Amino acid sequence: MSDANEPLEPDDPGQLPSFWLWVLETLRLSVRPCGEDLFEFSVPEGQRGDFDGREVVRVAVRASRGTGPGTADVLAVDSPLGGRLLRRLQAWGPFVPAVPRHQPVSVHQLAPHLFAPYRVTGGTVRLSGCSLEDHPLLRYTYLVRRDNGEAAARLVHVDASPRPEPLEPALSASLRLDELAPRLVRPPRVSDDQLGAWLSYGEQQAALLTTADRRAEFVVAAVIWCKRASGKLLFEFGDRSAERPFDAWAQHLVDGVATPPPFRCPVTGRESYHVTATDDGRITVAESIACCECSGRRVLDSDLETCAVTGKRALAEFLRSCSVTGERVLADQLVRCTQCSQEVSPHAILAGRCAACRSLQPISRDDPRLARILGEYPKLDRWTRWRLAETDAVYVLTASSLLRRLLLVLDKESLEASHVAESFRLGRDWPEVPRAQWAEFLG
Ligand SMILES: [Zn+2]
Repeated sequence: MSDANEPLEPDDPGQLPSFWLWVLETLRLSVRPCGEDLFEFSVPEGQRGDFDGREVVRVAVRASRGTGPGTADVLAVDSPLGGRLLRRLQAWGPFVPAVPRHQPVSVHQLAPHLFAPYRVTGGTVRLSGCSLEDHPLLRYTYLVRRDNGEAAARLVHVDASPRPEPLEPALSASLRLDELAPRLVRPPRVSDDQLGAWLSYGEQQAALLTTADRRAEFVVAAVIWCKRASGKLLFEFGDRSAERPFDAWAQHLVDGVATPPPFRCPVTGRESYHVTATDDGRITVAESIACCECSGRRVLDSDLETCAVTGKRALAEFLRSCSVTGERVLADQLVRCTQCSQEVSPHAILAGRCAACRSLQPISRDDPRLARILGEYPKLDRWTRWRLAETDAVYVLTASSLLRRLLLVLDKESLEASHVAESFRLGRDWPEVPRAQWAEFLG
């Protein structure tokens, strides 16, 4: 609710107060300045009866200036001219279509403001659709008088949403609902039910404004059609594109009160106004771009893994999983175990041997793991003194015969061998058995 105390001071010196300007324009009385703080409007022929037959009415905003007998009528709520205009407005009502005087009305006006928040590196942004739709807001105007007649009458405005519910004062102000112009084109249709609800709300507000010594008279309800902009921004990088929808009051976009939403990377979920693309063309935000330290490629940081040894960030293709520790390690950082020949993380190695080789435990033939292996490879049955260690992926086994000893690395699931070594029982090294000769041991 805002009070318009009378007599209204002009918004700017030399300007007609915006409320009266709207009233005159709504009544199709075209007003123009005609001197310092003086205005005049021509009265169409059929309406002159309302203005003492005058063709032109001169208007002064302040009683103290520019007025004199026969020169100008003071325009105020309780002046004869003000009373006439309000009565004519009432006769137009109860609803009068209006628009905010300064709101943007074309997509052309909005586009620069829609693009401004974004920084697009390596691509472009454009509108892939934008519509300006009229949404109604309500401004009820009441003439409030004290019953004792001492104080001047004043105008009170009550703004409401179309629900109708009270409108946040900040929204009224930011949409500039206090500076209205007539809506000159036919407004969207409003259902009778809706109009009825709006009217009831206006009656309720009048009752709230009325007290023991104060009476509120409904003058008119301006149905203010405010432009709301909605559409999609299209970000294009080569032959790929991504969209971002927006929906905001057009006035807010122009004033920077609202901005279209930041771009959201569909993979990382990160949001930013800096939009760019990876080297392979995926559209994302600059904050999600990272550089693979092995290939130098610009990729999503979520594509990269950290090497457990060097701490370098690289694409998965440059890393391997250590079968002993489970760590992800750059391929060139893996160390070969001198015993089982598995390539493992350096963290798994001590004195040349991996953690599995260092933890081999004696195992009996009854152990289901060994029983399964002997079932798969019956030729192994001739070996004795089995020892076993297992990692996430493999079994490492050693066994002995009278003179020789054997080492196997088998996949835990398939039991497929990945390494076979054999040596003399007293030998220190584990010479690898060429794959061609594995059948000799495994059958
Ligand atoms: Zn090993």
